[in-house]
Amino acid sequence: MFPAPFEYRKAHSTEEALAALAQGGSEAHVLAGGQSLIPAMRFRLAQPSVLVDINSIDALDYVREEGGELAIGACARDAAIERSAIITSRYPLLKDASAVIADPVVRQMGTLVGSLCHNDPAGDWPVVSLTGRAKVVVRGSKGSRTIAIDDFLVDSFSTAVQAGEMAIEVRFPTPGERTAGSYYKIERKVGDFATAAAGTRVTLNADGTIADASVAIGAVGPKAMRVAAAEKLLKGQKPTSDLIRAAAEEAKRLADPTADTRGSAEFKKEMAAVCVARALAATFGRLGVGGLS
Ligand SMILES: Cc1cc2nc3c(=O)[nH]c(=O)nc-3n(C[C@H](O)[C@H](O)[C@H](O)COP(=O)(O)OP(=O)(O)OC[C@H]3O[C@@H](n4cnc5c(N)ncnc54)[C@H](O)[C@@H]3O)c2cc1C
Repeated sequence: MFPAPFEYRKAHSTEEALAALAQGGSEAHVLAGGQSLIPAMRFRLAQPSVLVDINSIDALDYVREEGGELAIGACARDAAIERSAIITSRYPLLKDASAVIADPVVRQMGTLVGSLCHNDPAGDWPVVSLTGRAKVVVRGSKGSRTIAIDDFLVDSFSTAVQAGEMAIEVRFPTPGERTAGSYYKIERKVGDFATAAAGTRVTLNADGTIADASVAIGAVGPKAMRVAAAEKLLKGQKPTSDLIRAAAEEAKRLADPTADTRGSAEFKKEMAAVCVARALAATFGRLGVGGLS
């Protein structure tokens, strides 16, 4: 199908984009990589009357470290994240995910910030961002707001971005010493959305006990979810296979998937546990505690 008619506005700066969004009101949508929005428009699931194209805002195309954080601009493509030397060397959680989102063609256009703004319950970046305790910087005519990712991801396909605002960047705290993370996704075939997915990040104390842990799951509920019970359970413990199994069990308990062509609800709950177990084992391996499963 063809999209419904719309007015197209190309922005060359954030200010131009915000002015166009303010003019368009609630009917104006940002066009980033277009990998979710354009298909939605073609199926007439989205019918924006104004499309504000931000692809020519070079100032928002960056992946850089500053002030103890990794900042990724709204126009940074998934492919740039996948190729980034900073991410490859220091952010394994993001590196893992960057290689399994859709396929290389989609990754040439899609953006991390666009994925968060879309907030698909099966999206990969929302899980990674919850795990990495990210913050999203949102700007509107009244100024900027910095929103913790847990508050940004409101519900399926719904976020804290208000009419007239746009997301400018996402910021991840730079992992400190003895910190590692990983992302694990089960998909039917390369290029598919997740059947289930999990992100984990762990910081160890000098004595090898767990100082801090993040666990999040995706594709098994209305939105990506933090598994707070698993995080609590891990804290203060020594990494063992029994501990991994107990944390995975918490993910299974929390998961609330719906059955579809990717599997039954029961199967997906099991897969959520499998993803958490594998992500945790990989995270511990990266911290030098190998051989766990
Ligand atoms: C074949 C195919 C397979 C895919 N497989 C996967 C997969 O396995 N995993 C996965 O996670 N995703 C997958 N996707 C989705 C893909 O990752 C999208 O790129 C992503 O969801 C949206 O990013 P985008 O930059 O294309 O945003 P767009 O499609 O341009 O926008 C998406 C939504 O976010 C809004 N938006 C975008 N940027 C901003 C901003 N800066 N401020 C405010 N609002 C904004 C738009 O208005 C729109 O409502 C797939 C897509 C395709 C076509």
